[in-house]
Amino acid sequence: MATLRLDALPIPEKLRDRPLPELSKPYMWSSLGPFVVVHLLGFGALFVDVPWTAWALCLGAFWVRMFAITAGYHRYFSHRTFKTTRTFQFVLAFLSMTSSQRGVLWWAAHHRKHHKFSDTPWDVHSPTRTGFWHSHVGWIFHPNYDDTDVKQVRDLARFPELVWLDEHWMVPPLTFAAFCVLVEGWAGLFLGFGLSTALLWHAAFTINSLAHVYGRRRYPTTDTSRNSLLLALLTFGEGWHNNHHYYMGSTRQGFYWWEIDITYYILKALSWFGVVWDLRPVPKAVLVEGRGGGVVPSAEQVIREGIVTREMNEL
Ligand SMILES: [Zn+2]
Ligand SMILES: [Zn+2]
Repeated sequence: MATLRLDALPIPEKLRDRPLPELSKPYMWSSLGPFVVVHLLGFGALFVDVPWTAWALCLGAFWVRMFAITAGYHRYFSHRTFKTTRTFQFVLAFLSMTSSQRGVLWWAAHHRKHHKFSDTPWDVHSPTRTGFWHSHVGWIFHPNYDDTDVKQVRDLARFPELVWLDEHWMVPPLTFAAFCVLVEGWAGLFLGFGLSTALLWHAAFTINSLAHVYGRRRYPTTDTSRNSLLLALLTFGEGWHNNHHYYMGSTRQGFYWWEIDITYYILKALSWFGVVWDLRPVPKAVLVEGRGGGVVPSAEQVIREGIVTREMNEL
């Protein structure tokens, strides 16, 4: 069970009458099996011949799926920051789901709640409120977050193929595992699927845990989000998390040329070929404000002093 720290930050005024979430239920330990098995798969490589091509598959699978997570699950399905065809929408859904982080509706619904309630007691994963492990991985196995709140994702639920994928969320990862076996045999399963997926999980999960703890704040927000070059490099741009919490509507999360955002570069290249379009820009005012420098107020100061920020809290 997770414990909730109520003294971590003041609760914003508009939420003070809301009933507190019930976190005392135990984690769903029975769902942990496949998660553990994927972590163990990588060790299988110690017992078979591993050609260099299996390592290349491991790395390639990590990169392609990292792009799919941030461009698909996050920037497209959760935030609708660009447009594409229905076919490429399906490709993005399928590819991001090969990372085995459940369906796009489930992912987007929980992520939208994270933005709505960032670092308040109702946040799905807040290291400030519930500690490192719960925000990193524990929340996925908490019964409170097992279901998809369809109210949050009505725009996505209009597409029967996405609903089908969401209900059969094991299909993309199993298909990908089968592909790895086909390409590289046991070494493909152990490295291309097992090790690559475990690394991918923990790299992506750092945005929920570490990106609210380590790094610098460019913008004043009511949450503890931070910017970190290291996390941005690891996660193809997701490490500019404070930028993103301040203005979630843009395709890019590295707002300036020096904030490396590989996902954005790939999406921009895809837009030259007409695969995606209408990439939403960062408003000029947000860019000007971010260049301001000086001391950026902490989340606590922003809440306590009622500082009005441009933080967007609606999609
Ligand atoms: Zn987001
Ligand atoms: Zn966040």
